[in-house]
Amino acid sequence: KLKLLQELKGKETVTADGKKVHLYANIGSVGDIAGVLENDAEGIGLFRSEFLYLGKTDFPTEEEQFNAYKQALQLMAGKKVIIRTLDIGADKQVDYFNLGKEENPALGYRAIRICLKQPEIFKTQLRALLRAAVYGNLSVMYPMITSTEEVEQIFAIVEEVKQELDAAEIPYKVPEQGVMIETPAAVMISEDLAQMVDFFSIGTNDLTQYTLAIDRQNEKLDDFYNAHHKAILMMIRMVVENAHKYGKWAGICGELGADLELTDEFMKMGVDELSVAPGMILKLRKRICEFSKN
Ligand code: PEP
Ligand code: MG
Repeated sequence: KLKLLQELKGKETVTADGKKVHLYANIGSVGDIAGVLENDAEGIGLFRSEFLYLGKTDFPTEEEQFNAYKQALQLMAGKKVIIRTLDIGADKQVDYFNLGKEENPALGYRAIRICLKQPEIFKTQLRALLRAAVYGNLSVMYPMITSTEEVEQIFAIVEEVKQELDAAEIPYKVPEQGVMIETPAAVMISEDLAQMVDFFSIGTNDLTQYTLAIDRQNEKLDDFYNAHHKAILMMIRMVVENAHKYGKWAGICGELGADLELTDEFMKMGVDELSVAPGMILKLRKRICEFSKN
């Protein structure tokens, strides 16, 4: 069995009826890239950039971030690398952010909300990302989106960063930009969002938490956490449909994307990309290559 999987290395991920699916890996640091290459992922679909901020005493500098992103892009040698902007807060606390204690951290001051309220933190990351984009095939995605206004605000900040880089004559490229779909609100307005961004990546971990009203960290609720809930599958279908209506692609980067029991269903829905733990890549490639709609 293992040998058979090894033979899938270097092969394209295409369904038996001819649809190309992008099979990418989720990583948490540059150190994880060895495993990405070893398992023959076609790119990185979720690079959680929090690692740059966690376990430190102060904010990472633009230069530190630029070097890490550039290194990731160079190691991936032209393959797609999707970096998610800062998703601190709630579960991932960092002292120097001085976030304070909250009653409902999952519903609190986190992720894009911090970035929009404290744009100097966001701009440092964006400058590093735009500068690094010159060195490979970068996409950027924004977490915890709930409204079109947030996306407009993000784009305005990106515009400021471009102007500053232009003024300083610093080389950069504007990467493809997408949003994570991980709130029910984002699902419901996905038709509007699809007209604004380049792609969607569905974060089923948070989407399940917010849809089923189940704290993803509370083990007492494990019996109620039904990842296959019809509501979640209906939402994924809706998001993919709305993306395709405007010629955009939609993928899944939450844990559900690696669930082999659902792979056929995702293919029927037309999911364009799956981003999973590196160890799942070849198993999914096998499954996808065997799938046919008819
Ligand atoms: C998700 O919410 O599904 C996701 C991919 O992001 P994270 O698990 O980092 O919140
Ligand atoms: Mg999430």
